[in-house]
Amino acid sequence: MSKPNVAVIGAGLGGLSAAIHLRLAGHSVTVFEKNPLCGGRANRISDNGYHFDTGPSLLNYPWVFEELFAAAGRKMSDYMELIPVDPSVEFRWANGTTLHLSSDMKTLLAECERVSPGSSPGMTAFFADAAEKYRISFDKLVLQNEDNPLKWFIGLSLGEMLRTGVWRSLDKELARFFSSRYIREAFGSYAMYLGGSPFELPGVFSILPYGELAYGLWLPKNGIYGLVEAVEKLAREIGVEIHNNAPVQMIRQEAGKVTGVLLESGAFFPVPIVVSNVDVPVTDRKLLQKPTPANPGMTPGVLTFYWGVRGNVDAVGHHTIFLPDDFKGAFDDLTKNKRIPESLPFYVAVASTSDPSLAPPGDASLFVLVPTPVLSDLGEDFDWPAAVAKIRKTVLDRIGLNPQRIAVEHVWTPVEWARRFGLHDGSAFGAAHTLFQVGPFRSKNYAPETTGMYYTGASTTPGTGMPMVVLSGRLTAERIAMHYPG
Ligand SMILES: Cc1cc2nc3c(=O)[nH]c(=O)nc-3n(C[C@H](O)[C@H](O)[C@H](O)COP(=O)(O)OP(=O)(O)OC[C@H]3O[C@@H](n4cnc5c(N)ncnc54)[C@H](O)[C@@H]3O)c2cc1C
Repeated sequence: MSKPNVAVIGAGLGGLSAAIHLRLAGHSVTVFEKNPLCGGRANRISDNGYHFDTGPSLLNYPWVFEELFAAAGRKMSDYMELIPVDPSVEFRWANGTTLHLSSDMKTLLAECERVSPGSSPGMTAFFADAAEKYRISFDKLVLQNEDNPLKWFIGLSLGEMLRTGVWRSLDKELARFFSSRYIREAFGSYAMYLGGSPFELPGVFSILPYGELAYGLWLPKNGIYGLVEAVEKLAREIGVEIHNNAPVQMIRQEAGKVTGVLLESGAFFPVPIVVSNVDVPVTDRKLLQKPTPANPGMTPGVLTFYWGVRGNVDAVGHHTIFLPDDFKGAFDDLTKNKRIPESLPFYVAVASTSDPSLAPPGDASLFVLVPTPVLSDLGEDFDWPAAVAKIRKTVLDRIGLNPQRIAVEHVWTPVEWARRFGLHDGSAFGAAHTLFQVGPFRSKNYAPETTGMYYTGASTTPGTGMPMVVLSGRLTAERIAMHYPG
C-alpha cells in the first residue's frame, strides 16, 4: 500500500529534516517555502563579496547531521566539509578578564587555572557529571515521542533522575563545580543558545557547554549556509519536491481532518498529511485559525548586525561573547524586567577568520547578535531606530571598530525576523525551555484533535538549535509512522 502524500510548510532545517525522513519512509513529499532560499533562520545574505549567515553561527553535535545523511545511505563528508574551530569561544568581560575555551582538555585546564587558580579539578568533575547528563538526555529523554510525563521519566533509575538536576537552575548546577565567577558566567551564558537565562533554565542544560567541548565546534565550508545547501541537495536528490517563493496562506480541514494547503497564490494542494515547520503559535493562529491557539512562553528576540568590513578584524576572533560586569542584572532585564539591558551582553562572529572565502580577499564579515525582549514586551511604540543607533555605538566602541571601515551593513530587528520567517512575537529561538516546556510538557509534534496535522522545528519537541530541529524532523516522521503504519 502506498504511503499518504505529505506537504511540509517551511524549508527550515526542521522542515527539510522531516521531509527527508518522510521521503525515506516512502511518502511523496512536497515542501512549500515562502522565501526564495531554503534554511529559514539559517539563511544567507550576500552583498558585494561579503557573505553572512543570518542566524546560527555555532555548529555543534556534528553527529546529528552525520546521522541525517547516513539515514539516506550517504556520507556527509561527500556533501560538505567541516572546519574545526578550536580554540572555540572567547568570553570577554567589561573589566578586561578573558576566558578562551578549547576542546583540548589540557589547553582548557591550563586556561581555567590562568583565569581562576585552583579551578581545574572542578572542571574535571564537571566533565564527568555533564557527560552522564548528556548520555541520559540523549539515550532516554530527547529522542522520544512521549506525551506522558510519568512514562517519560519511568525509564530513568533514581540515580539517573537525581543526576539530571532538572529542579536546580543552570546557574546553581554550575555553582556545584565552580566557585569562579568567570567560568560560571561563561558556561551559564550558554543559556542564551536556548534563548533563556541561566537563573531560570534547568540544570540539565549544563550539557550545552559540555556538548560543545566534548564534540567540538565546527564551521561548514562556505559558512553555516554550506550545511543548509548540503541538506537541501540531499532532500532534492532523494526526490523531495521543494517550491520556493510559495507562501502558504492556510491549512484546510474538514470534519477534524486535514485536507490540504492553500497557497497565497490561490493554488490548493490536496494532501491528507501536513507538517508545519512554522512556529507552533503562528501555525495554530494563522494557518489553522484555531479558536484557542497554543500560547507557550517564548524565548527573547534578537537584534542582528551584518557588517562587511574593509581589512582584517584582528581584535576579535571567530566567536567572542562579550559579557557585562552585572551578569545577573542583564539576564533579569531581558527575562523579568522586559527591557534591553543597559549593560549589554552580546556576541560577535567573524566567520571569515575560519573561512576567508566569506569575504573579499583581506576583508572580514562580522555578525553581531544582541538579545532583546520579545516584541509584545517592548510595545508597539518601541523606538527601534534609536535603539539600533545606541546599541551599534556600544558594540563598535567595545570591539574597537572604526565605523568608517564598514563597507556593507544590514540590520535585522526582531520585527524583521518575525516578518521574514513568521516568528511568533519576534522570538528568535521559538518556545522557551523552562522545566514545564521541555519533553512531554512542550507543544506536541501533532495536533490530537486534527487528523493529519503535525509540527516540526524549534517550537515543538525536542527544542531549538540546529541539531535539535534536525532531530525534531526525525521525531515528527517517527510520529507519522506510528499513526500511519504499514
Ligand atoms: C540570530 C540567531 C542565532 C542563532 N544561533 C544559533 C547557533 O549558533 N547554533 C544553533 O544551533 N542554533 C542557533 N539558532 C537557532 C536555530 O537557528 C533555530 O533553532 C533553527 O534554525 C530553527 O529551525 P526551524 O526549522 O525550526 O525553523 P525556521 O528556520 O524558522 O524555518 C521555518 C521556515 O518556515 C518558513 N515559513 C514561515 N511561514 C511560512 C508560510 N506561511 N508558508 C511557507 N513557509 C513559511 C520560513 O520562511 C522558514 O524558512 C539561532 C537562531 C537565531 C535567530
